[in-house]
Amino acid sequence: MQHFVDLLGLGKRYGNLQVLSDLSLSIRQGEFLTLLGPSGSGKSTTLMMLAGFVEPSEGRIEMDGRDITHLAPDARDFGVVFQGYALFPHMSVAQNVAYPLRIRKVPDAEIERRVADVLERVGLGGMGNRGIAQLSGGQQQRVALARALVFKPRLLLLDEPLSALDRRLRQEMQGELARMHKDFGTTFVFVTHDQEEALALSDRIAVFNKGRLEQLGTPREVYERPASRFVANFLGDTNLLEVGVVGREAEATLCDFRGQRLRAAYSVQASQGGKSWLAVRPEHIDLRPLQDAGRDNGLCATAGSATYQGAHVNLELTLEQGERLDLRLPVSHPLLGELRSGQRYWCSWSPQHCHLLSA
Ligand code: ADP
Repeated sequence: MQHFVDLLGLGKRYGNLQVLSDLSLSIRQGEFLTLLGPSGSGKSTTLMMLAGFVEPSEGRIEMDGRDITHLAPDARDFGVVFQGYALFPHMSVAQNVAYPLRIRKVPDAEIERRVADVLERVGLGGMGNRGIAQLSGGQQQRVALARALVFKPRLLLLDEPLSALDRRLRQEMQGELARMHKDFGTTFVFVTHDQEEALALSDRIAVFNKGRLEQLGTPREVYERPASRFVANFLGDTNLLEVGVVGREAEATLCDFRGQRLRAAYSVQASQGGKSWLAVRPEHIDLRPLQDAGRDNGLCATAGSATYQGAHVNLELTLEQGERLDLRLPVSHPLLGELRSGQRYWCSWSPQHCHLLSA
């Protein structure tokens, strides 16, 4: 594989506190890579080490196979967009965007041409003379992006850039970011704690937990095949049932859940006789009348509270075995009209829609 930027055994300590451990990761040229994880999991530390603002305690960073671990930030030629944008308030939009070109001593005529071009491409055409204070939050965000992209960086680093925006603007800017990523062809490394944002934008997602990389994969891989309980829970909701592995079929692993047989998608991890967690998403479970019990892969459960969510209804049930089971049903589901709390139902799902995690 072609080398672009490689993180090799990277670690960071503050005094006795190890905040990042043994991080190895190859960033691919042109990709949109998201670092996702809860607050304090080491995402920003990783980004700041890439940018050169934080010195690693262990490991190294290579670009094109060359060691850049101790290279000064401005010598890396990486663009950075911070949460608070860090724009110069006393300068106009055009002066802000021109700044990285000025310090690189680009000739005036070329600066003018490139600034106009990049402002056009981020949707701020003709707004170069405005003052920063006259701009909305979304427009300031675009200026910060323009300033980070104008010098054609090898890598664009974005630290929770959308977190200050309200929900609607945030969704609009997500679409804009995806469009800019395609248009500029620049490699993006994006930090967020928002799972939906990560799933919507990324080519690949690196999931962090407590200073460690838990899983690296496409949005589909991490969502549909989470490698750990943490990833299964962090990316959307998941029902987890503790099962014993009792056998193998052609395409499924046969499990025992307190005397009930369940099938899960075939798993190489699950060894016969061992304990496992069976993970199934709420949206993958169907609600059926009790007469259907035993017809396919599922469990009996008693309906509890239902919460209307607009496009779907969240339904909480209690399994005969005592555990809670969460379902997410489309509002058009035929049983919802007559749904009664306390009534028993058959909850079923395809073995292909669940999988096993090592306990
Ligand atoms: P995230 O970006 O995932 O929210 P960070 O990388 O910012 O997490 O932080 C990871 C951990 O490192 C946190 O526990 C944080 O308190 C700690 N940390 C970050 N910077 C420093 C610092 N300069 N001194 C001491 N601890 C720090």
